[in-house]
Order: sequence, then structure tokens, then C-alpha cells
Amino acid sequence: MKYYILFGPPGAGKGTHAGAIAQKYDLKHISTGELLRAEIAAGTELGMQAKSLIDAGSFVPDSVVEGMIVSAFDTIKDVDGFLLDGFPRNLSQAKDLDEILAKRGDKVTAVVALMIDDDLIRQRIAHRAAIEGRADDASEETITNRIKTYHAQTEPLIEYYRSAGKYYEADVNGWDLDTNRAKVLGVMEKINQ
Ligand code: ADP
Repeated sequence: MKYYILFGPPGAGKGTHAGAIAQKYDLKHISTGELLRAEIAAGTELGMQAKSLIDAGSFVPDSVVEGMIVSAFDTIKDVDGFLLDGFPRNLSQAKDLDEILAKRGDKVTAVVALMIDDDLIRQRIAHRAAIEGRADDASEETITNRIKTYHAQTEPLIEYYRSAGKYYEADVNGWDLDTNRAKVLGVMEKINQ
């Protein structure tokens, strides 16, 4: 099994480009954010606990997202691999993922990072808010919190994966979707050549 991590700040377009990558490389796209929103929509206990954290722009506990990831790895078999979107999001999740995969005799294949400048994050999220209506995209305070948390907790993963020789980056600062998609797929090609 291949294990790709689709990395990047909130609003970089991970969800937008995941489908094309997953289709081309026969991967199952797993977005922890989407899984959590599905739990909220279904009104589960887990969803109810996660909702206030997500709406505030805070992380849900590592154990919760890791449980969802392990259960996906356990149940989905009919693909060449996984495309993880929104996970790992901090150093302890990254280390836990290494352990989870080591137990299965596997390892992270590569990290595909979608990078945009800070001033674009807010513009992208504002654009998405109008389309998707996510509660955590609607509040300035929540967005500010997510950007801060990205820099403090998620960004250090760049160095973690770079030093492991697994880090690849696509600059998606432009607004043209097709151009960005081509860049992201270009990175996947480079990894797979
Ligand atoms: P975005 O890429 O815009 O941040 P996501 O859909 O990836 O959106 O995540 C939405 C929210 O779900 C996050 O702000 C966080 O509250 C929660 N979440 C998603 N993935 C994780 C994770 N790996 N660890 C902790 N919380 C998470």
C-alpha cells in the first residue's frame, strides 16, 4: 500500500485536488475534516464532541482522528493506497502515523504539499465559505485561530518529512484551477518516476 499525505494550510485546495490525484493513482482519499463533518451531520456522540472544537478552529484530540484513520486502513483494501488529507496535523500525529504504519509493515510514501502565502489563506476561505457554507469558515476569529495553529503545530511537519526525504511541494498561489491541478499532478509524477 502507498500512503501519501496531502499537506498544506487551510484553504490551500487539498480537498479540491484530492479527487484527481486519488483517481489517477487508485488511492482512497481520506479527509479527517470530512469524516468529522459527516459525524456531526449524523449526530453521533463523536460528532457532538468534535463540533464545538471544530467551530472554534481548535483541533479535535489526536486519539479521535487516529481512530478514524486506523479504521479506514483496516477496512479499505481494494485500492493501491491512501491519500491522507488533513492528517497528520501535528508532530505527535506524524509520529503516531509512523508507528501505525510500522505495525502494518508499511511507511509514509511521500508528502505532497500545496503551498499558498498567508494573505491568500483568508481569501481562499472566504471564497469557499460562500460555496460550502462550513461553520468554521464563517467566523474571522475561527479562521485566525486555524492559521495560527497551522503555523505553530502543522508547519513543523515540513521539516519532519523533509529530513526524511519525503517532502515535495507545489506552489498553488495562482487562482487558475487547471494550472494548480497540473502542478499538483506534476509533483505526483515526479514522486512516481
Ligand atoms: P481545512 O483544511 O480548511 O483546515 P479540514 O476539513 O481539513 O479543513 O479540517 C476542519 C477541522 O477539522 C479542523 O480545523 C480541525 O478542527 C478538525 N480536524 C481535521 N483534521 C484534524 C486532525 N488531523 N487533527 C485534529 N483536528 C482535525
